Amino acid sequence: MSDELDKSFQVLKQTIPLLLKHKIPAIPTNYALWYTYTANQKPELNRELDAMTEAGRPMSKVHAKELYRKHFADEQEVSSWQLRQSLEAMLIELSQSLTDTKNNTHEFKQCMDSCMDDLDKVEKEGWSMDEVMQLVRTMVTETQQIRRSTLDFSAALISAEKEIAELRSKLEETQHDAFYDALTDLYNRRYLDEELDNMKVEDGVCLIMIDADHFKEVNDNYGHQMGDRVLKAIAKQLKQKCRDNAVPYRFGGEEFAVLMTHSSLKQATRQAELIRKSLEKITVVDRRANRTLSGITASFGVAEYQKGMRRSDLLEQADKQLYEAKRLGRNRVMPIPG
Ligand code: GH3
Ligand code: MG
Ligand code: MG
Repeated sequence: MSDELDKSFQVLKQTIPLLLKHKIPAIPTNYALWYTYTANQKPELNRELDAMTEAGRPMSKVHAKELYRKHFADEQEVSSWQLRQSLEAMLIELSQSLTDTKNNTHEFKQCMDSCMDDLDKVEKEGWSMDEVMQLVRTMVTETQQIRRSTLDFSAALISAEKEIAELRSKLEETQHDAFYDALTDLYNRRYLDEELDNMKVEDGVCLIMIDADHFKEVNDNYGHQMGDRVLKAIAKQLKQKCRDNAVPYRFGGEEFAVLMTHSSLKQATRQAELIRKSLEKITVVDRRANRTLSGITASFGVAEYQKGMRRSDLLEQADKQLYEAKRLGRNRVMPIPG
């Protein structure tokens, strides 16, 4: 490591904790300000930043830009070089701290949580996730350019890039978990609620509620594990039979839902009938006990979203139809498909 870069790395090591302590988003402008603060290069800037943090005032993006302009205006060249160096060092720090924390899943989770918090804040300032990721990408591109002339760093940078890719996929996973059901990989009820809240009557919205018949008996006779496999098989059929304007969800337990748009009640009951027939064909083999489970059925209740309905009204109406299907002997769609 050259002396200059070594120095920049040392300054950086003190800067990152400052950003975290004052909960300052690590965007380039802020980074340049606090890097300069740590390096103690501009006493006037240090006084201003001290006054601000003592007063406990958070720094807005606009304020940060103002400070930046005031203190760096005449030194565009110097500061951008400095900034690039710091970003490079920052990536190395990021990769190192991630490698350390990854060894401890608990700490890693906390790290992810705080990352999410920070992203949240950035979002509140009007930054979308994509913009934040774009920033990270820019940082990588920037550092890649420098890498060409500083080969010493290439190994560390490659690992930093990998860590960032991992971080990104972790973030995506976290988002994925929030809206998907782990067993079936269908969307979950939380996501259905969100979707229902955003639906408009003009979209021709219909809801199909599905409840597996006598599912308790499946568990009792074949065990919970086989029960889980049946639920997965049901989900698979739902995915196969739902196209374009129909989206399947796991509502909870042995209950599923299909949300349809641009559909009449008649079309929705037909869609339900199609699914009902496909479930009858499910077979799950229990190799250990050398037996096959078949004859799975489910009952269906369909409702159409009407003007003035609340989300709970639509669910209630589909549930009422479902109850009727159960009462009439199960393995059927209500209202009767036309
Ligand atoms: P009905 O036809 O009236 O709907 O009868 P049912 O037995 O399906 O209804 P009930 O509500 O009495 O029982 C639901 C069963 O579904 C009981 C519960 O153990 C089982 N179940 C719910 N979630 C899961 C799951 O994730 N895995 C497994 N294996 N079973 C589940
Ligand atoms: Mg049930
Ligand atoms: Mg049931």
